[in-house]
Amino acid sequence: MAPHRDISPDDCPSCHKVYGALEEHHTADPETWLTTEALGRIVGLKKRATQDHLAHLFAHSRIDANRRTPLGGGIGQPLLPGAQEWAANVVAPDPTCAKCLVALAAIGWEGQVHMEELAKIAGVSLRTIERHRPHLVRADLVAFRPVPIRENGKNLGRRPDRFTLLSGFTAPRLEGAALEAVPALAASIIDRVRWFVGVTDEERALAAKSVAWCLRNGWPEEALLRALDATENRQAYRPNGYLDKLLRKLPAQYVIPARQMVTQRTAPRRLDCAICDTPFKTTMPGHVLCGGAVCLRPELAVIPPSATVYKLA
Ligand SMILES: [Zn+2]
Ligand SMILES: [Zn+2]
Ligand SMILES: [Zn+2]
Repeated sequence: MAPHRDISPDDCPSCHKVYGALEEHHTADPETWLTTEALGRIVGLKKRATQDHLAHLFAHSRIDANRRTPLGGGIGQPLLPGAQEWAANVVAPDPTCAKCLVALAAIGWEGQVHMEELAKIAGVSLRTIERHRPHLVRADLVAFRPVPIRENGKNLGRRPDRFTLLSGFTAPRLEGAALEAVPALAASIIDRVRWFVGVTDEERALAAKSVAWCLRNGWPEEALLRALDATENRQAYRPNGYLDKLLRKLPAQYVIPARQMVTQRTAPRRLDCAICDTPFKTTMPGHVLCGGAVCLRPELAVIPPSATVYKLA
């Protein structure tokens, strides 16, 4: 086989693995820095080898100069046609918005871009981008997130904004039997928020109530946990107050990411119904029971559906 430096990352299985792990981490926990050792452990490579493949991915413009951020385009995969095809078929607020959306999709389902660069890709002026960006945000087709550069707690400016293409569809509110699982799920989410410590049982119960409210509104478990646990702040002065502040920042309803809508439409998931434990397939996002919003076999339930009445928080 040719030496590593002479082959494309597309043809190097280790580069693929490293890139895949970076992408996964970037989606799951973008605020946390992944050390080279930790990355190596995920892909099963020694530190030195991991460094080699990171350098190779950077040299071939697959990742950013920070050696961690995957750049749009990815590696030897047909993801892009999916995003661009989706963007081309979405009903955008106006033709210019449609153009901007297709330009974003050229980068990927999610990514990071300077508005100047986006203007160039879309073939429009920066002013035009600035004018239409809020249209796309209001239509729930894109979410932008600023990325501040911080060092020793000081703000040193901003990196390009991070964006995620959104479907424009909100997750449905939970109904019927799906509500049964909410209190336990809310409590387990609170237990996994790393900074939520040093509180009384009563404060913990109150926090779980607030989280339960979001779950009932259709927020998926993973998205809530990510929103609450992503913060770098690990020592909240008043954990309950801080939790409420983070929750207030979330939109009342969860907008389903475009990638999730598109990939789930083509690939149904296999789930076990939370009530009757029957396996079934679904293309619906979020918490789904065997009959969609309801369980079709409540008589098989471990906990009878009407056992407890939960008050809304
Ligand atoms: Zn490689
Ligand atoms: Zn517009
Ligand atoms: Zn069921």
